[in-house]
Amino acid sequence: MAAQGGPRVVVIGAGMAGILASIELAEAGYEHAIYEKADRLGGTWRENTYPGIACDVPSHFYSYSFEPNPEWSHRFAPGAEIQAYFEDVARRHGVDRRIRYGTEIERLCFEGGRWRIEGANGLRDEADAIVAATGVLHHPSIPDLPGLGTFEGACFHSARWDHSVAVEGRRVGVVGTGSSAVQITTELAPRVGRLVLFQRTPQWITPVGNSPFTEEEKAAFRADPQAILRVREEVADQYINGFSNHLSDMDSPQLQAIHQFVQANLEAQVRDPVLREKLRPDYRAGCKRMILSDGFYDAIQRPNAELVTDAIERIEPRGVRTRDGVLHELDVLVLATGFRVDRFLRPIEVVGRDGLSLDRAWEAGPAAYMALVVPGFPNLFLLNGPNGPVGNFSLIDVVELQFAWVLQILARIRAGEFREAAPKEAAMNRFDAERREAAKRTIWASGCRSWYLDADSLPTAWPFTYDRFREEMRGPRLEDFDLR
Ligand code: NAP
Repeated sequence: MAAQGGPRVVVIGAGMAGILASIELAEAGYEHAIYEKADRLGGTWRENTYPGIACDVPSHFYSYSFEPNPEWSHRFAPGAEIQAYFEDVARRHGVDRRIRYGTEIERLCFEGGRWRIEGANGLRDEADAIVAATGVLHHPSIPDLPGLGTFEGACFHSARWDHSVAVEGRRVGVVGTGSSAVQITTELAPRVGRLVLFQRTPQWITPVGNSPFTEEEKAAFRADPQAILRVREEVADQYINGFSNHLSDMDSPQLQAIHQFVQANLEAQVRDPVLREKLRPDYRAGCKRMILSDGFYDAIQRPNAELVTDAIERIEPRGVRTRDGVLHELDVLVLATGFRVDRFLRPIEVVGRDGLSLDRAWEAGPAAYMALVVPGFPNLFLLNGPNGPVGNFSLIDVVELQFAWVLQILARIRAGEFREAAPKEAAMNRFDAERREAAKRTIWASGCRSWYLDADSLPTAWPFTYDRFREEMRGPRLEDFDLR
C-alpha cells in the first residue's frame, strides 16, 4: 500500500461499491474516509435477508476481479454467503477498520474549492472529492394500498424482513412478482401453510440450473485460481455477448431467441392451462428485468399456493381484499414491491458550485454524464448512479470499470493538472440527448412497466451496448470537462 496523501476523498456507503472504492483508494495511496450510516457493511446484502435471497448473477462473475472466491457453494450463491464474502474482503483489505459506522451523511456542500461534509451525528469533515457509493436499490417502495396500516398480522417490506415472525405453517401473502417476490415464493411455498401471491404483472422466468459446486470443484478452484478466472471469463462472455450487448436493440435476434426460450419454459413447466395463461406476460422478454428461477413455477403450482391476479382493493385487519370481493385471510403480508430508484444519494442534501442544489439540477429526473458526474458538482463521483448499466449486469464489474475511470481523474488532480473537474453543461446535454434517443430502441422501451423507466416512461439505464460502456470507461474525455 502506498503512503497516503491528497487529494483527500470521502466515500459514502460501505456496500459493494464503497468497499471497492476504499480498497483502490488505499492501494493508490489516497487519504480517505469511508462513512456508513448503518452499523454493518454490505449494503444491499446486509439489508436484504429475505428467505431465498440469492444473486441472479453467477457468483464467480459477481465477485471482485482481484478477489476470486473458490468457496462459493452454488453457481448463484445465497445472499448470506455474499454478505460474508464482502465482510471477509473488507477485513482482509483493512476496509472495516477505516469505516466510520453509524455515520449518516446529511449534507454535502462545495465551498471554497472543497466539499464540506456534515453527518447526523455531528460529524464535520472536508474533502477534495466525494465518492457516492450509496446504492441504487436502497429505499424501499411501500405501495399506497388503502388500509395497509390496519392489517393485524405481521407486515413488512422484502428488504426489511422481520425474522422474529414465524412463517412455518402459516398463511403468507406476497405482493409483487419481481426478483425478490419470485425468490421468496420459491423458498416459502414448501414451508408455509398457505402462500398467496398477488400478481399485478406476470413475469417471464428463465431457468438457470443453479447447481451446487462439488467439493472436488471447490478444491480445484482453491488449487488453481486461474480456474476461477476461466469460469469468470466464460460467464462474463455468456452474459455480455449472449445478453447484455443486445439489450440496446429490441429487434436483435438474440432477444427474440431468449423470448422463445422463456415461452417454451412456461409451456413446459406450467401444466394447468388457466394458470399458464395467468402467468403469461403480454410483453417481450427482457423488457422488465429478467427473472432467473429454477423453482418458481413448481412453487406456484403447489396445492398450498395460489396466484391471485385480481387487483388489490384494500388491506383489511384480517387480510387482503381483492376487487372481485374476495378476502384473502393472512397471518403475514410481505411487500415485495421494489425500491424508489430515483433517489440515488438523496435524501442527502447536496449543494454544488454557486449554491446549485442536486434537487434543482435533477428537477427533470436524475441524470449524469457518463453515468458518473454532474455539471456544477466538481469531483463528485456517483458509482452505480443515474444512467448506469443496471440491467442484469454484474454491478461489481460495472463499479470496477467506473472506479478505474474515477481514479484517472484523481491521479490528474494529484499530479496538479487541475483541482476541480465537473462535466461541461454542453457535454452533459449531448450525452443526455444521445442517451434518450438510444433509450427508445432498447428492449426496456418495448412496452411494459418497470423500474427502468422514468416518469416519462423512458428507460433511464445505460442504453448503449455494454462494450461501449467498457470503451467509455477506459478514460475520461477531458475536453468534456470544465477543469479549474
Ligand atoms: P421490482 O422488480 O421493482 O418488483 C416490484 C413488484 O411489486 C412488481 O411485481 C410490481 O408490479 C409490484 N408492485 C409494486 N407496487 C405494487 C402495488 N401497489 N400493487 C401491486 N403490486 C405492486 O422489485 P424487486 O423484486 O425487489 O426487485 C428489484 C430489483 O432488485 C430487481 O430488478 C433486481 O435488479 C434486484 N434484485 C436482484 C436480485 C438478485 O437475485 N440479484 C434479487 C432481488 C432483487 P408491476 O410489475 O406491475 O409494477
